[in-house]
Amino acid sequence: MKALVWQGVNRVGVENVPDPELLQPTDAIVRVTSTAICGSDLHLLDGYVPSMVHGDILGHEFMGEVVEVGREVKNVAVGDRVIVPFPISCGKCWFCQKGLTSLCDNSNPNAKLAEGMWGHSPAGIYGYSHITGGYAGGQAQFARTVFADANLFKVPKNLSDEQVLFLTDIFPTGYMGAEHCDIQPGDVVAVFGCGPVGLFTIMSAYLLGAERVIAIDRFPERLELARRLGAETINYEETEVFEALKVLTGGRGPDGVVDAVGLEAHGTGIGGVYDAVKQTTRVLESERPHALRAAIMACRKGGTVSVPGVYGGLADKIPVGAFMNKGLTMRTGQTHVHRYLPTLLNHIINGDVDPTVIITHRLGLEDAPHAYHMFKHKHDGCVKCVLNP
Ligand code: NAD
Ligand code: ZN
Repeated sequence: MKALVWQGVNRVGVENVPDPELLQPTDAIVRVTSTAICGSDLHLLDGYVPSMVHGDILGHEFMGEVVEVGREVKNVAVGDRVIVPFPISCGKCWFCQKGLTSLCDNSNPNAKLAEGMWGHSPAGIYGYSHITGGYAGGQAQFARTVFADANLFKVPKNLSDEQVLFLTDIFPTGYMGAEHCDIQPGDVVAVFGCGPVGLFTIMSAYLLGAERVIAIDRFPERLELARRLGAETINYEETEVFEALKVLTGGRGPDGVVDAVGLEAHGTGIGGVYDAVKQTTRVLESERPHALRAAIMACRKGGTVSVPGVYGGLADKIPVGAFMNKGLTMRTGQTHVHRYLPTLLNHIINGDVDPTVIITHRLGLEDAPHAYHMFKHKHDGCVKCVLNP
């Protein structure tokens, strides 16, 4: 089959690779019909995630048709159309039982690699380096999925791939990012970053009852999308964000602030990325303001800073004094996709949200290398690329 593989820092390519096979009786093989490129994939492209190997198949946002199931799989059958959450849940451990599926204890066979960095390992993730399990990803014609009974969600036939694809990651991620702000009636939520995650955070903040959302980025087409979703916007290259947020909130600051940026190669890459293999920390230089720092500074006293943006290693110059003295709450994590999926599917069925509004590019798998570079540099108005293998 054909698959998009990591070939080194800033190099991805489509290669012919062996078809995936069932390895466990709980596995299922999915023929991928749609898959997307995520801001998290850019951290792999940029080389910020350790333990990538040439030939690793990327992609953790994918869906398709079940073409083969292991003998212990009961909940899905050949022919079913399914979406696949990016974190892998065993469905049985203490964390999965509590709905904390991105913290599953049993789905990361390489947990030891991550424990040195983080104390404990999070769940396995498709197409996301060897520290999260070394699973082949879904930017390919076929993918092996594991613990199929706990991870494959059947989707209604009358919904298109594009309507449900983002339930694998970014819609739940935006939703958890907003939910973590514990939104109360009248609340103002500020969202740093108007990429796909930030845009779903805006939609979700309104679903959860926010009165106003203020969105921050520097790309006009992304800010325009944010406005179409009902947000007020600030271009951080033109306006001092801290002051602007104060003015827009009567001097108090937003009740909740979301960092939907995380590590960004040419933006907020301040601090360091820990390389588990070399056991060193690579310091990243920042040209622009750091979203997490700005979020902490901008949040009102007693408010919440929610961090769906992905970080890998150490971050320097985070204003921990402001964090403590303003009595802030911080909430973060890889998204517990499984927990939010049924609610968000209903929102799509009811027409409360149209996930397709963020799609700017539809391409074949062979165009994936071009799509990665376009998405990384935000060229051609690129917000979200969907690939059809
Ligand atoms: P993206 O690269 O398309 O969007 C990031 C946006 O942030 C860009 O539009 C960029 O211009 C903007 N930005 C950069 N610096 C900024 C600053 N200082 N202030 C305001 N905006 C700034 O990526 P995406 O797909 O939207 O993903 C965003 C983040 O969410 C990434 O870090 C990604 O890894 C993370 N993510 C997390 C999860 C999770 O489970 N927690 C899941 C998916 C993605
Ligand atoms: Zn993703």
